[in-house]
Amino acid sequence: MGIQVKNIAVLGSTGSIGRQTLEVISSFPERFRVIGLAAGENTALLGKQIANFKPRFAHYNKKEDKLLVADVETISPAEMASHPDVDIVVIALPGGAGLEPVISAVKAGKKVALANKESLVTAGEIITKLAGESGAKILPVDSEHSAVWQCLEGEATKASRIILTASGGPFRNYLKEELEKVTPEQALKHPSWKMGKKVTIDSATLLNKGLEIIEAHWLFDMPYDKISVIVHPQSIIHSMVEFADGAVKAQLSLPDMRLPIQYALTYPERLVNNKLPRIIWEELDRLDFEPPDTDKFPCLKLAREAGERGGTYPAVLCGAGEAAVELFLSHKIKFTGIPKLVEMALNKHNAVARPDIEEIKAAEKWAGEIVTDYTARGGVC
Ligand code: MG
Repeated sequence: MGIQVKNIAVLGSTGSIGRQTLEVISSFPERFRVIGLAAGENTALLGKQIANFKPRFAHYNKKEDKLLVADVETISPAEMASHPDVDIVVIALPGGAGLEPVISAVKAGKKVALANKESLVTAGEIITKLAGESGAKILPVDSEHSAVWQCLEGEATKASRIILTASGGPFRNYLKEELEKVTPEQALKHPSWKMGKKVTIDSATLLNKGLEIIEAHWLFDMPYDKISVIVHPQSIIHSMVEFADGAVKAQLSLPDMRLPIQYALTYPERLVNNKLPRIIWEELDRLDFEPPDTDKFPCLKLAREAGERGGTYPAVLCGAGEAAVELFLSHKIKFTGIPKLVEMALNKHNAVARPDIEEIKAAEKWAGEIVTDYTARGGVC
């Protein structure tokens, strides 16, 4: 029997994950075909990707300059995500932009390779319920969640604990006072992963790990008190799962996002890809672990609490986090201002208990505005 070619739509194709997804797809031309590409403002790169992959559909935000490509039908990311001819949709759009396409793909019963964690963080209850109804399969692309997924494969018994690993970011060994002086340029240099700007800053504040706790809660139906975080600076173990008998399974590989991307696309198979790096065990002298310091990095604790409280709190966490990171990147607040602003927004929020999508979006927007307004009015952070 021949291999059936799968049609892949890549939403967020010009970002870090999108570009690496296209690289993986290029390694398996007999398996995958790019049917749709969606990007934001980077029309120059999107134009090149369209010329290279010749998709049927495309989407871009920039209204003023028309892409000079023939034979491409422009449709919205949500339409692309649910199109009947799409087999797998990779959702790598940033932040809140991912929510609508995820909902649309899940309603249509698609295989959703999910790199956008904010959608699950803010609307995990709605998304998992819809997926249960439609038979959609959410395939995690986030390296930690891909690791957990890989560890759970073949197990008949539910795991008793998930242990998410965190690199600890570039300021793991800084004193609390030193964190005050951290610049965006320093924060954008991640020690082990190459990623987009927002997630790189979130890794430095540990907000990213906090979002990943909530993401794991929804993906694996695991109670919050059974999800731990351990700092592992080498980023070789991508996460672990503990079982009832005390056995722990871990997934190890060199830090490279192309592996979790490929696993999501080729699941349940594993395919040879010579571009993926291998661990050289003789050169690996140690693997270290230490507990995270939530006093120095309060975002981790704030995120866990937001997840436990549920409702619109996780949406506020995301909205406030996004706005605070933007303010930090434009030198308007200190690095240590990020958790302060996130905490302020969470404290001021009047939560909605079982929000619908509109209420989630409204809470996220409200949080972003309150953070930006506070700073604009001269609030020092
Ligand atoms: Mg991750």
